[in-house]
Amino acid sequence: MNHCLAFKKLLPYLEKERRLKHTNAILYYDIATLCPEKALGDEANLLDYYSTQMAEICQNEEYARLVKEGLNDLSASPMEKRLFRMLFNEVELLGKMPLEDYMKYQSAISASNEMWRKYRPADDFGSWLPYWQKLIDLSRHVADLERKPGMKTRYDACLDSYEPGETEEYLDAIFLPLKKRLIELLAIAKKKQKAYALPPIKRYPVSKQKELSYRMLSIIGYDLKGGCLMESAHPFSNDDFRHDARLTTKFLVEDWRSNVFTCLHEGGHCLEFQNKPREMYDNYVESAATAAICETHSRFYENIVGRSEEFAPFLKKVAAETLDPEIAGIDDLAFYRLINKIEPWLIRCEADELSYCLHIVIRYEIERDLINGKIEGKDVPAIWKRKYREYLGVEVPNDKDGCMQDTHWSEALWGYFPSYALGNIYGAMIAERMEKDIGFRECLRKGEFATILKWFADNDFRYDWMEPGDWIRKVTGSPLTSEPYIRYLTAKFGE
Ligand SMILES: [Zn+2]
Repeated sequence: MNHCLAFKKLLPYLEKERRLKHTNAILYYDIATLCPEKALGDEANLLDYYSTQMAEICQNEEYARLVKEGLNDLSASPMEKRLFRMLFNEVELLGKMPLEDYMKYQSAISASNEMWRKYRPADDFGSWLPYWQKLIDLSRHVADLERKPGMKTRYDACLDSYEPGETEEYLDAIFLPLKKRLIELLAIAKKKQKAYALPPIKRYPVSKQKELSYRMLSIIGYDLKGGCLMESAHPFSNDDFRHDARLTTKFLVEDWRSNVFTCLHEGGHCLEFQNKPREMYDNYVESAATAAICETHSRFYENIVGRSEEFAPFLKKVAAETLDPEIAGIDDLAFYRLINKIEPWLIRCEADELSYCLHIVIRYEIERDLINGKIEGKDVPAIWKRKYREYLGVEVPNDKDGCMQDTHWSEALWGYFPSYALGNIYGAMIAERMEKDIGFRECLRKGEFATILKWFADNDFRYDWMEPGDWIRKVTGSPLTSEPYIRYLTAKFGE
């Protein structure tokens, strides 16, 4: 393969980084699943050891110089250019910030996260606040350093680090009409739901549910020879490794649906890793896809496929075969309603399809104002409660399941939350495109899941290394718009 000179010079660093990253991913998976309790401390040490080596690469002067050289290399291919831009973002901050300040920021993150772990179970926001406010102040400083010319707000710098090119102005224009429509649809759906009774959810042991997980993964085209499935407290998938796309799930004996949709979500992520072209790996851009692009595929398989009327009969059949023959007797429409129950409540992770984006919009509005300095950490619990009441009709009884529920803010992941909503929005745009290209709904109805996966491989996954604005234009032919998503939700949940 023909690479530009800067790429060739960087190659030893890239190889080392990839090996370290792969080792860490295996350790991370092990810690979350198999690792014996007594060995947890040792493995956490190993993880630290390799993470430090990765950070050392970013701090290496020659590496930083080569990355900058790459940025200016006119013979670089588009993939190489994207790689250099990504690497530059990593080394740039260190160039602008004295190492001492950078370490201070890192330790503020560790302290805030550690204290969040300590005070969240005790529902003690007040004791966490000093650590968090310190992190907020430092994060504002870091965002000021990262802010590029032309960025209108400080929060734009945060957004740009996850979704290059994304701005607050643009997101406001996307989220505002979406929020308005979601609130209306929620009221309609709740009213409609009152008119019918749902079949009861019975309890099923983990052993039966596990069988159902494997069947679901095989239906969507997940290659078990290049992955593995285990159980963990917080489900996730190990990304970026072509021959090693592992996932985890969580089993609730009292609600089998949770495992099914977790498998479809994490399985959706893994389909992307397993079906990227070799070229992306050869150019070291296999992990260039932004969080929103990754969430597009997971949420596509979880919701647009998994919770569709066309998929419901497949799921029902497999659930009857693995969990309970009685499930076969449930009427198709009742079963479809069962997997689409609308129930706005406190927790984002287990929100229904309709409420989900409202959880995100609330977080977006709060973190935007927080980073821009319009509000302070102490104001957040009250604002959180007010917005949950206004948007979702949910009373928040405490902070533990309120503004302290997610780990993101304790770790300074400002600008990450919008990715989840963007994933839904991109997914609906893609579904409309796929409908035109291959008759997506008909494929679903006939169970032609391989055709759907092939469409993704040919038209989407191979462009995932691009910046999101370019990627979505390439995949669907149009720029980001929430209209298809609003159309999709209206068709599904409207009058
Ligand atoms: Zn995900």
